[in-house]
Amino acid sequence: MKKSTLLFTILLSGIIMAQEKQIAWDLYHSYENFKEKTLTNRRFKHSDIVPLIERLKNNKNFKVDKIGISVEGRDIYLISLGSGKTKVFLWSQMHGDEPTATAALFDMFNFFSADSAYPEIKNLILSNLSIYIIPMVNPDGAEEFQRRNIVEIDLNRDVLQQQTPEAQILKNVFDSLKADFGFNLHDQGRDYSAGNSFNPASISFLAPSPDYKKSLTPPREKAMKLIGNLVTILNEFIPGHIAKYSDDYEPRAFGDNFTKLGTGVVLLESGGWRGDREKQFLRKINYLTLLSGLNSIATEGYATTDLSVYESIPQNEKFMMDVILKDLRLKKDNNEYVIDIGINFDEVNVNDAKDFYLKADIEDVGDLSVFAGYEEFDLSGCTVEPGKTKLEIYHNIDELEKINLTQLFKAGYTNVILQNDSFQGEYSHFPFNIILNNKAFREGKIKPEESPNLIIKKNNEVKFAVVNGFLIEIEKVEDWHGNSIVYGK
Ligand SMILES: [Zn+2]
Repeated sequence: MKKSTLLFTILLSGIIMAQEKQIAWDLYHSYENFKEKTLTNRRFKHSDIVPLIERLKNNKNFKVDKIGISVEGRDIYLISLGSGKTKVFLWSQMHGDEPTATAALFDMFNFFSADSAYPEIKNLILSNLSIYIIPMVNPDGAEEFQRRNIVEIDLNRDVLQQQTPEAQILKNVFDSLKADFGFNLHDQGRDYSAGNSFNPASISFLAPSPDYKKSLTPPREKAMKLIGNLVTILNEFIPGHIAKYSDDYEPRAFGDNFTKLGTGVVLLESGGWRGDREKQFLRKINYLTLLSGLNSIATEGYATTDLSVYESIPQNEKFMMDVILKDLRLKKDNNEYVIDIGINFDEVNVNDAKDFYLKADIEDVGDLSVFAGYEEFDLSGCTVEPGKTKLEIYHNIDELEKINLTQLFKAGYTNVILQNDSFQGEYSHFPFNIILNNKAFREGKIKPEESPNLIIKKNNEVKFAVVNGFLIEIEKVEDWHGNSIVYGK
């Protein structure tokens, strides 16, 4: 390249990027106008999105097709818009408990439904692109809020065998389109970090490998440039929270397979964000990312992005924990040890998977200085011991409500025994665990995989209790917002 041409290219890519960032900021600020207000958390179902899809049939911008049914007979939809020559295929929620991008797609449908807003961007996208979207590939999994489909097959390991109707549908649409670009939309665990940055990997990208050699084929290179472009835009909003998913080739996965067949596939994984378990902020970031991506494909602005941007994205690592209790003193015989305690929560589905409670486990004990917590508590100077079970027997809820909590914790208890056959539920909002009918009673231990029920003292006075991983300041028990566990159900 001649020096003057090179300079011109650099200048041009700078101007394009400045424009794209400005568009992203405009979309960020106007998001509430387009957000689909009926989707409020991650556990929406197929029956919640069907009326939203039906509504699109009345809008001239959209074409809605039923393209097949799931194992349990739920309709799977393909929504199309735009009339351009470049084809873009987006599919979301092939894993039933990964709905963040699905909600963002409905926000995006609202964006394209509104007549007056952003006519230039919309016209640009819709005249240059033909966009095809399957918003919920795995509706049966969504119903149970589980990864796999209803016969426990992971759809993203079924592209070769295509045993499931859901995988067949996805593959058929792909084969009929041979799209230029694909967006493979997922959620990933909260424990992923952006390298060793102490930040969650809130958005992770990958241009999947087309083979075991991880060859850099033209479609893959195109996807890498597009990702580099998106990362540059997202750095405006979530700097330090972007990572790269493992590029190990998985022949049974859709993204890898579609890359091999010639589509520039962008894998997008929504991870964790501090203070956002329901991922509503990350849903907004998805909305921005998808619209920015479509815009950049429409203008071909992504093509000026240097591959080094993709290469410099930090890897997904696993250095996040839900809670870290730091610098506690543990006494054993005449010795004292300084430890951190790392805690992770599992979500347990209840109420037909419309809701959940949290069940904590101790993840690790010792020097956890390389990890970061979504919440961290500095407890230096405090001692820790396992919470005990009070052996007095309670008979009903009234008696539990009368327990003096300060006295309970000061005596070292985090668990009580309830003799009651009619008690319902696997969890409670009492700030102590309940052991039913003295079943499942055992001494608490501070070790990995045990439940974190702890008593924390300063100068020999009980200051804090930890019940099912939730820290309670005993002078402010009324601030408790966690849930405890009912054992022996
Ligand atoms: Zn997934």
